Amino acid sequence: MLEINDLHVKLEDEDKQILKGVTLSVPAGEVHAIMGPNGSGKSTLSYVLSGRDGYEVTEGTATLDGVDLLEMEPEDRAAAGLFLAFQYPVEIPGVGNMTFLRTAMNAQRKARGEAELSAGDFLKLVREKANALKIDAEMLKRPVNVGFSGGEKKRNEILQMAMLEPRMCILDETDSGLDVDAMRLVSEGVNALRAPDRAFLVITHYQRLLDHIRPDVVHIMADGRIVRSGGPELALEVERDGYGAILSEAR
Ligand code: ADP
Ligand code: MG
Ligand code: MG
Repeated sequence: MLEINDLHVKLEDEDKQILKGVTLSVPAGEVHAIMGPNGSGKSTLSYVLSGRDGYEVTEGTATLDGVDLLEMEPEDRAAAGLFLAFQYPVEIPGVGNMTFLRTAMNAQRKARGEAELSAGDFLKLVREKANALKIDAEMLKRPVNVGFSGGEKKRNEILQMAMLEPRMCILDETDSGLDVDAMRLVSEGVNALRAPDRAFLVITHYQRLLDHIRPDVVHIMADGRIVRSGGPELALEVERDGYGAILSEAR
């Protein structure tokens, strides 16, 4: 589903190479995790896939279902089925959560040539999904992420994911601010949305998150490259021994 081949990325206005040949293949139905030391380029990978400004692809490709992602506008990537949950969910004062969700869904439907959801159908759908995820209806009425607790932001992110029904979900989790409850929310959300025609790329510093999610494959990223891939036991190895051995082996 997601195929990344020899991806090289530098900062647009600095002579700094960040990704130095990332090759990664995530088939439909699978959950892959990326771990790695701080500064290795994990977030940059997710930013480049989302189409964020400030980065320049100097070599390599990234495709979703065979379609070149790197040439697409960010909103077209979303329409093509890519979803990115970011480290720091943006707050949008003045825009109600429902309005935001409906606008996002309709933009996606429009780009796919589908008719807009009626207000009634949307309301029915959002209530159904919110219920299934145990999300309070009150949260739907508040402005997007404004004053949300860390846990509420996570819950909201999972709701966005459930509504948009993406094919490829990328989650980038920081090393700060994910308490045990938030971690449980994220893992339960991912597990609930796992499907044969959907794949996940979960970027994390936490071995513990992977206890709940059970990835099919774990990749270790260091200095802009995937230096090792393996099963879930690789995350346990990192938890036990740190990155030291893997990094010196890679060198
Ligand atoms: P990770 O998510 O693995 O911690 P990042 O992708 O955030 O790594 O960062 C990789 C490297 O690129 C770091 O050295 C970081 O400082 C640098 N970097 C990323 N984006 C920028 C930017 N916009 N300006 C300057 N340096 C950046
Ligand atoms: Mg970092
Ligand atoms: Mg990061």
